[in-house]
Amino acid sequence: MKKIIIIKYGELNTKKANIGLFLKTLKNNIARVIDDDSIVIKYDKGRMYVDCKENDEEEILTKIKNVFGIHELTMGYELETNDFELVKEAVKALVSNIKGQTFKVETKRSDKNYFLTSLEISQKLGAIILKENSNLQVDVKNPESVVHIEIRRTNAYIYLETQLGLGGYPVGVMGKGLLMLSGGIDSPVAGFLAMKRGVKIAAIYFDSPPHTSIEAKNKVLKLASILSSYQGNIKVFVVPFTKLQETIYKEVPSEYMITIMRRMMYRISQKVAQKNNCKIIINGESIGQVASQTLDSMNVINEVVTMPVIRPVACFDKLEIIDLAKKINTYETSILPYEDCCTIFVPEHPVIYPKQEKCLEYEQKFAYEDLIEEAVANVKVINPNEKKDEFKKYL
Ligand code: ATP
Ligand code: MG
Repeated sequence: MKKIIIIKYGELNTKKANIGLFLKTLKNNIARVIDDDSIVIKYDKGRMYVDCKENDEEEILTKIKNVFGIHELTMGYELETNDFELVKEAVKALVSNIKGQTFKVETKRSDKNYFLTSLEISQKLGAIILKENSNLQVDVKNPESVVHIEIRRTNAYIYLETQLGLGGYPVGVMGKGLLMLSGGIDSPVAGFLAMKRGVKIAAIYFDSPPHTSIEAKNKVLKLASILSSYQGNIKVFVVPFTKLQETIYKEVPSEYMITIMRRMMYRISQKVAQKNNCKIIINGESIGQVASQTLDSMNVINEVVTMPVIRPVACFDKLEIIDLAKKINTYETSILPYEDCCTIFVPEHPVIYPKQEKCLEYEQKFAYEDLIEEAVANVKVINPNEKKDEFKKYL
């Protein structure tokens, strides 16, 4: 009798051509969070099984819950025969994990020659559960817990009702993307949603010391570190942005400052993305949230890059974004009060309907290409998980 975690894939099942890659990636991603080579993970087309051995299955389950590509998961037992005595033993071992007061047993029997029918199996095992725990009651219509029994030709599975996983695709199957990560609420959520679609992310942060503080940068590193629990390490490219920003402040009329600054950010993001094999840019823009996120602004800003810019929260309300930020654990960090480079240079009346001609006219006033080259050449790569101790002290 083996204590196992059973994983169901859901949406993965529909991706016939890629299924091999999907499952291999999912298996690797699960192995990474468990981080214990002695634990065996095996799979077939419908399910993955994690052999918990003597380890704490609740702890393993908690870790696996953060892995994308899992539709449902649960803990249970695998038997190498379908011997009914052993099935009974497994059921007894599961009784203490039954949640709530009421339960039912549901049996699937693919071995049609088995000496008991599905109904008989359910009845006999239900009686055993009642004997083991007299506080429980059977409720076949609306039970709080379901004990699943699967009798196959050569083996059997006994497990409790499944809980929902995060869904989506295993991180990495869709290649890499570059997330523009500010310290705000929106961009970490955008990153989470991109990872959910199987995109492995790296992050880019525009740093403008001394106008932005070391705390603001460390907050971004902390956010990257929180997000890394969903995919493993996230590299952060820190772009020295001060010179460009100061030049914009000097050369560009105040109402266009943000528009031009964002065009510079996009240009730099695309260059860093291309250098690092990222195929898309991801950011936390949301339609209409601020002046630079009107449809006109998006057009004028987007126009400077050719790479797709994915905006996962474009159509979310702020409250929906906040809700998700809380669920994924980034909210408390995002609301810490450190300014980002946009808030320092915020003009009183940013343009809401910017014109491309105006942008080109203002950009001609300074050698922005050189400044961009210089910024890209001086990008620093930080692995926040290695530097954890360094930024912890700021937060
Ligand atoms: P957020 O809550 O994510 O900070 P926001 O509502 O403050 O977003 P903006 O400041 O206009 O909106 O930024 C829009 C998006 O641009 C951000 O979600 C982020 O993806 C990107 N961005 C903004 N500032 C930076 C920065 N300093 N470094 C990296 N990306 C940034
Ligand atoms: Mg912001």
